[in-house]
Amino acid sequence: MTSEQLRRYLSFYQDLGVKNLYRRAPGVQPAPLENPASAPEPIELPSLVPAGDTLAKISEDIGDCKRCRLCEQRNKIVFGSGDEQARLVFVGEGPGADEDAQGLPFVGRAGQLLTQMIDGTASKEGIPIKREDVYICNVVKCRPPENRTPQPDEMEICGQFLFRQLMTLRPKAICALGSTAAKALLATKDGVMRLRGNWHKWHDIPVMVTYHPSYLLRPYNQNAKREAWDDLKKVLHFVYD
Ligand code: URA
Repeated sequence: MTSEQLRRYLSFYQDLGVKNLYRRAPGVQPAPLENPASAPEPIELPSLVPAGDTLAKISEDIGDCKRCRLCEQRNKIVFGSGDEQARLVFVGEGPGADEDAQGLPFVGRAGQLLTQMIDGTASKEGIPIKREDVYICNVVKCRPPENRTPQPDEMEICGQFLFRQLMTLRPKAICALGSTAAKALLATKDGVMRLRGNWHKWHDIPVMVTYHPSYLLRPYNQNAKREAWDDLKKVLHFVYD
């Protein structure tokens, strides 16, 4: 949609008396137009999720993406990996150096810890799953330079693809790893310490927020490690019991 189309789209609804497009009170009807023939043609907003969407289609739409500055230094786009029928999806922040080189999420040190957490907790709890039975992806698909936190515009641009991935996968639960994933999914400014351990929602899908594995790799975060294992136990029992 061009900016001119968007301007016409918004002003069409504002002319109808809709003050806030996103917060119209239920049951409140716009005032009738005095001369409906003078109204500009309404514009169809493109759906965020095309009909019959698939992960393959989303990956094809990402293509050789140049939509934001992260394309400039990336080697490989990291789309996501795992079971496409997974009942549980983990969402991280963005690829690091190892992921950028291999085109796969969570394959570096943080990834090894995530694998241990999933496989180890599942096995201890008698839940017959392994890392390959879940799906893993990130908020941004290209490595931010020097592993910096993705910027809001990068998260927003790439967020459309995460949105489509999650809508297509429709898991029973999502586990958000760290504050960037929590922010992207829950549109909150609260940090992980406040959010973790309780269920939240992304659309109608339950979301558990927990610490990012990179944070847990720091030696002084033993307490956080225990909490992350508790969070994961909760998620695994909720999804697989
Ligand atoms: N950290 C992330 O957030 N994602 C990865 O894929 C790897 C490290």
